[in-house]
Amino acid sequence: MSLTDSLLSGDDCKNCRLCCWFTKYDLWETPVIDDSLREIISERYPETKFVSRDKGSYVFVMTETPQTDPLFADHPEPTRFDCPMLSTDGCRLGNDKPFECQIWPYRIMSQEGKLLISLSLLCKPICENSFTSVISLLKSGLADKIIAYSKIHPCIIKEYTDGYPILMYIK
Ligand code: SF4
Repeated sequence: MSLTDSLLSGDDCKNCRLCCWFTKYDLWETPVIDDSLREIISERYPETKFVSRDKGSYVFVMTETPQTDPLFADHPEPTRFDCPMLSTDGCRLGNDKPFECQIWPYRIMSQEGKLLISLSLLCKPICENSFTSVISLLKSGLADKIIAYSKIHPCIIKEYTDGYPILMYIK
């Protein structure tokens, strides 16, 4: 289950998986894993490797692989970095996904000291929803959850980068 389920179906994610692999240019987007989730993952999948990022937060060591997925045959990057939790059936973590994966494609970012919530346009299924629905989901509690989590785990706050429409500034 994700926090964006009302706009994005499990099948949308399973059939796309674009947000579960990265190119060398967007490795900064890889999800941050907190201590408790790291323990769960290590127990279930002891072969998983992590890199320590900051106090009590980690990122996965991604699996470098040639781009052979027919779904992305036109992708210009010949090499990709797959999340080790990615399987042909989607995410192996099910309901225990990292928080950033649960809120994808919403992102919390910092722009010149101001916090904001933006949207990744890479997620095509969510872009098929109306702008009003995308904002309504945020206002109906999702924004509060993102803000609350980011206060405990500020590592999920990414530096703002152009190309991400800003949905709201956080006061
Ligand atoms: S943890 Fe799961 S949802 Fe998140 S990037 Fe990896 S495979 Fe995708």
